[in-house]
Amino acid sequence: MFQKRKILLILIICMIALAFTSCSKTPPAAASDPNQPALGQPITKSDFLLGTVVNITIYDKQDESIINKALDRIRAIESKMTINNADTSEIIALNQAAGTSAVKVSTDTFDVLERGKYYSELSKGRFDITVGPIVKLWNIGTEEAAVPDPQVLLEKIKLIDFNKLQLDRSTLTAKLDEPGMQVDLGAIAKGYAADEVAKILKDNGVQNAIINLGGNVLTIGGNLKGAPWRIGIQDPFNPRGEFLGIINITDQTVVTSGTYERYFEENGKRYHHILDPRTGYPADNDIASVSIITDSSMDGDGNSTSVLLLGLEEGMKFIESQKNIEAIFITYDKKVYITSGLKDNFVVTNSEFELMN
Ligand code: ADP
Ligand code: MG
Repeated sequence: MFQKRKILLILIICMIALAFTSCSKTPPAAASDPNQPALGQPITKSDFLLGTVVNITIYDKQDESIINKALDRIRAIESKMTINNADTSEIIALNQAAGTSAVKVSTDTFDVLERGKYYSELSKGRFDITVGPIVKLWNIGTEEAAVPDPQVLLEKIKLIDFNKLQLDRSTLTAKLDEPGMQVDLGAIAKGYAADEVAKILKDNGVQNAIINLGGNVLTIGGNLKGAPWRIGIQDPFNPRGEFLGIINITDQTVVTSGTYERYFEENGKRYHHILDPRTGYPADNDIASVSIITDSSMDGDGNSTSVLLLGLEEGMKFIESQKNIEAIFITYDKKVYITSGLKDNFVVTNSEFELMN
């Protein structure tokens, strides 16, 4: 049910993004040939990929084949990294060979594994790319989601250790040292896919576009007026696509992780999908959601999940210690904290929220 709610939410976010970004005047449709869209009209296409709604909108070129190429690229990435199709997935092959042998993977999968290991190290294991055993156990985002037996959970967290993921770039191989270990790329694969889509669009001459992969928003250029894109930041307490503020960005990404994104409720308690490897339970701190603003969507994705696990104080230090990364933190008490680089291009538009710095 929450899956449907999420899809709806993302569609609404897409609509908000469009409402904010397509306000430049476009010339009226002049073409009589229906296959030749009028100049100046954005073209847009949505699909359900990587477990989420993908939406690509190009503003300066009326060539649908570019979007189709991009969607094919996402499908190829999905088939290699999914944990749902054993026939194609390199990640399932890697997990099945855990404790036994190294597995050859594509450069796509290798790049994502390597970046996942990097964020595992950077966050000192709060983000951990080998979190798979407990992701499977909780089943959040599926009909089977349930609070696991605490004893089983304690056993499973022992299997989480990114230091036991061996990566060898010279042979493009990966190996998990212990049987039962499992990699899960859910926290960064969408970011990687968004970056790959941007490459395809740019290689095909696109200069103004918005790519949205389930809340991972990546922009190319600015809008047709030459101004930055205005992107709405989701209100984490309102599931109906309402936003609490607006960020202006050009050629950058906004990646949001929130405890509202995917969850289930049991005995009146809410359990969300970002799990703390130390306890096995969902991250439990002051942050309701965080949006990262940076150049690469994979880095945005790695950082947003890490910050959600680190909490406000540590998360703020984590972001400030890296170059060219900004963040908007929203706490459960409706306070909004931003990093220093955002002072001039972020505004809170919902007065229920208080901007703290
Ligand atoms: P979303 O998928 O909603 O955009 P995230 O980018 O924050 O959100 O990724 C959440 C996903 O990351 C989870 O669904 C799970 O697959 C994975 N995950 C959960 N906990 C961790 C963790 N501690 N470290 C790394 N990945 C995690
Ligand atoms: Mg993430």
